[in-house]
Amino acid sequence: MTEEKITPMMAQYLELKSQYAEALLFYRMGDFYEMFFDDAVNAAEALDIALTKRGKHGGEDIPMCGVPVHAAEGYLLTLIRKGFRVAVCEQMESPAEAKKRGYKSVVKRDVVRLVTPGTLTEESLLEARRHNYLAAFAEVRDGHALAWVDISTGAFHVMPLTLSRLGPELARLAPSELIVSEAKEADLRDLVSDFDISLTPIARSAFDSSGAEKRVCDLFGIGSLDAFGSFERADISAMGAIIDYLEITQKGKLPLLRPPQKEAEARSVQIDAATRRNLELTHALTGGRSGTLLSVMDKSVTAGGARLLERRISSPSRVLETIQSRLDAISFAYDTPSIRNDIRQHLRNVPDLDRALSRLSLDRGGPRDLAAIRNGLTEAGHLADKMQAAALPDLLAQAAKGLTGHDSLIDLLDDALIAEPPLLARDGGFIAPGYNSELDEVRTLRDEGRSVIAQMQQDFISLTGISTLKIKHNNVLGYFAEVTATHAEKMLSAPLSDTFIHRQTTANQVRFTTVELSEMETKILNAGNHALEIEKRLYETLKCSILDHSGPIGVASAGLAEIDLATGLAELAQSENWVKPRVDNSRAFDIQGGRHPVVERALAQQSGSPFIANDCTLSADGDNANIWLLTGPNMAGKSTFLRQNAIIALMAQMGSYVPAATAHIGLISQIFSRVGASDDLARGRSTFMVEMVETAAILNQADDRALVILDEIGRGTATYDGLSIAWATLEHLHDINRSRALFATHYHEMTALSNKLGGVDNATVAVKEWDGEVIFLHEVKKGAADRSYGVQVAQLAGLPASVIARARVVLEALEKGEREGGATQKTLIDDLPLFAVAPAPAPQPKQSSKLEETLAEIIPDELSPREALDLLYKLKEAA
Ligand code: ADP
Repeated sequence: MTEEKITPMMAQYLELKSQYAEALLFYRMGDFYEMFFDDAVNAAEALDIALTKRGKHGGEDIPMCGVPVHAAEGYLLTLIRKGFRVAVCEQMESPAEAKKRGYKSVVKRDVVRLVTPGTLTEESLLEARRHNYLAAFAEVRDGHALAWVDISTGAFHVMPLTLSRLGPELARLAPSELIVSEAKEADLRDLVSDFDISLTPIARSAFDSSGAEKRVCDLFGIGSLDAFGSFERADISAMGAIIDYLEITQKGKLPLLRPPQKEAEARSVQIDAATRRNLELTHALTGGRSGTLLSVMDKSVTAGGARLLERRISSPSRVLETIQSRLDAISFAYDTPSIRNDIRQHLRNVPDLDRALSRLSLDRGGPRDLAAIRNGLTEAGHLADKMQAAALPDLLAQAAKGLTGHDSLIDLLDDALIAEPPLLARDGGFIAPGYNSELDEVRTLRDEGRSVIAQMQQDFISLTGISTLKIKHNNVLGYFAEVTATHAEKMLSAPLSDTFIHRQTTANQVRFTTVELSEMETKILNAGNHALEIEKRLYETLKCSILDHSGPIGVASAGLAEIDLATGLAELAQSENWVKPRVDNSRAFDIQGGRHPVVERALAQQSGSPFIANDCTLSADGDNANIWLLTGPNMAGKSTFLRQNAIIALMAQMGSYVPAATAHIGLISQIFSRVGASDDLARGRSTFMVEMVETAAILNQADDRALVILDEIGRGTATYDGLSIAWATLEHLHDINRSRALFATHYHEMTALSNKLGGVDNATVAVKEWDGEVIFLHEVKKGAADRSYGVQVAQLAGLPASVIARARVVLEALEKGEREGGATQKTLIDDLPLFAVAPAPAPQPKQSSKLEETLAEIIPDELSPREALDLLYKLKEAA
């Protein structure tokens, strides 16, 4: 193979590409971003665009594809969603400048940004109402920490945690990208694969905590981190890694970040990943937002308010004063509907201040972001006026305080900007007339030039006597006088040819210029360019004025979100008939007339049938925990009841009104919720195994401030195993964990436990049987269910009548057998000949196997769930 000469452009491409091997390289060529080689093949497939080729490399065609620059954002989004990272390479000079450096010089290009899931800022790439977090997990000796930022809003947090808390915290924050040290990637890949998070390993050195401290200090221009509180080595390492990564991806241009806030585990209710999933707080089991608590609670009219709501739902508080002050804010808004409506009217006009600010700080903003700041702060001022007179509760008073004090910036922006400026600074025309005299002058020059040209057309008509002569403009010729071909001869001969210089002949027209016309054109062009330059300069100074004021803007923005949330929740409380919960330091749990907000909404939308409210009292009496053991047929409403009580408690602790007649909650520190035999095939573990691992986690962690909700534990295995495990679990919860708990089961045998365990009460969801069919009343009442109505439910589900009839016969026989002292399978088969259609196997001499012997020795009541699980594995092995 002969060595081919690589073109200078290809050499430049390959050099840049070698620095970004893991990303797709968007290589700017004029109005397109081009991709080559494997990048092109992968991108063409992912984007469903045409794959072409350009030139040869090593004797082979070079695959190529491209996307137009003006439509690049949409393609970027698709690529990021499909898991790619994209290095955006721009032309750093114009082709004319390159030519000046010598014939055949390649235009200078450089990567200006590496686009990854966690570092998006574009409005079109982000969900306005959700945070987009980039997180970093660090380990320094025995300490661990998680730091996270949303560069689109500047929020920056760090939290020390134990390794076992990493999963739950990732579930809470749902970051789109997690950075870890290369060395740790393998250990964490499994854990992270449970979540929809892109895992990015980076060099270990980025996590080095001494270098990290300097990076954090430099970023905020402080001498020592003590200014922001006390941080452990691991905290600093995680924060430093984030900053390092931002430097890499933003190519040194750091976003505006707020000073890091240290979060403590102890301040919010601990909710692990499975519980979060199961309660469908912010993400539905089916994916997406609809059907979640968030979707039902979201009445916010600003994007900042919506993001705050998501944060609150994700981390309900454990601090009484915090909860109380939020509830007081809602009470105020609840009691003053006219002020509330007024406030919300203003809030509707508030743009996304945080994201506008972030774009400006990263130089990805434009005049429209300047206007967003102006409009937002102006509305904030109006709001402050509205709220001034009222006797505000602390939280709202604090929020309102941040809304004022922006007058000089507002005045500046008011004077400088037109009402609705364009998106991009390079389009010009956004600075208001009268703001800058130099700009006004060149604009006049430009506009006058235009009217001079209009006058010239008149002059040319008189001069030539051609009344249809027109002066027109296009990008190739600039200004020109145009006549129809019929007049060509006249124009091309003396005396007119002395004045008119021929430029172009088309099929029907002939085009001319004159010295005077081209001079005017140059003037207009120069004035236009000059005006644009002045505007760009003014844009920069306005931008700097805003960034200088970014601290107070951030405070205003946080205040607006708080006000939006409080008024939104108050409005919801009123329309949905929610009440203010009583939250205190007791171990009470008393909900009267509770409802499940999501199911209630769904019922209202689908069938219009009412949701049946139910009571639940688990209040601990002295040392005794209180546990409700809930039985009742499938479909009666057990799961709904369980979840609604957990959700009401969470809502109370996030500081919201709750769907109930009254609610009294003693502070809850952790919530656990488990559903038996939930399908987890995707992770390739047996459902029963998952259930047991999760149950073990609860029994090991729950304390006397936990709320535990167990739904059909033990269902994933054989009846007696399942019953024994459920039984032992309940005893453990009662005796050892002493948690407030709700326990739903279909093992009716367990209702006997209420006699033995002081804190256990039986409850059941009532059904009525009528004409052989069940009617679900959805009423929870004290007492045990009489039976399970499984056959009736199956009938409702449409099982063939013959199967139902047969099932009734089998059920009757089984129940009869049980009453008469235990039916064996053998007697059943004898009594029910249908099972004997296949020839019965020759009788085997009865000899108990090892398996049976071991089984016989087991006393389920004496096993811990862990032992039960171990035994199960042993038995399985032996089988
Ligand atoms: P279970 O867990 O007992 O099988 P679910 O809690 O899944 O039953 O409830 C089944 C259906 O019954 C729900 O989808 C809902 O439509 C309805 N339902 C449950 N509780 C109520 C209630 N309190 N009021 C009205 N409908 C209810």
